[in-house]
Amino acid sequence: MHDHAKRRAVFIDRDGTINEEVNYLGRPEDARLLPGVAQAMASLSRAGLAVVVVSNQSGLARGYFGEDDLRAVRFELAAQLARQGARVDGWYHCPHHPEGVVAHLAVECDCRKPAPGLILRAAKELGLELDGSFMVGDRLRDVACGKAVGLGCVLVRSGQDDGPPTGPHETPDFVADDLAQAARWILERLAEDQA
Ligand SMILES: [Mg+2]
Ligand SMILES: [Zn+2]
Repeated sequence: MHDHAKRRAVFIDRDGTINEEVNYLGRPEDARLLPGVAQAMASLSRAGLAVVVVSNQSGLARGYFGEDDLRAVRFELAAQLARQGARVDGWYHCPHHPEGVVAHLAVECDCRKPAPGLILRAAKELGLELDGSFMVGDRLRDVACGKAVGLGCVLVRSGQDDGPPTGPHETPDFVADDLAQAARWILERLAEDQA
């Protein structure tokens, strides 16, 4: 049984899942939501799930943009989502990369996906139940990150294509064209769970 004192969540990758993949998105004017994303997020919220963005942002460690730029992009995405009736319960990102040029960010960390640090931090801070929660992303490392903490994982085809999984640790439970189709699959799983 699930712990009903805590909310379950859908953890969602950002680039290539919520917004168009552009290399190292650091400018709000380049932030474009993918079609159907806001409606999909709103449907997940209506079902009682927390919607939490978990994103690798190695552009910070690489010195391509700063935290202010990242925040401006987040505000822009949140504004576009809000105009279409969707909201995000938490935004989490990993600023690190071992080969970065910004010294304090050029480290091996526990939050760069496929490591599950962002999910664990969000769960703790937002009081989320991981059992029965989900992860959606366009990269195999998104799947591996979700699998590492026992989530139901959906790979979306709206971003980058890593090719076939190399093992069960990164094999998705479902492959969807986009977040809209992923959300429908998740809502079906919830309905089954409650039946
Ligand atoms: Mg992505
Ligand atoms: Zn990190």
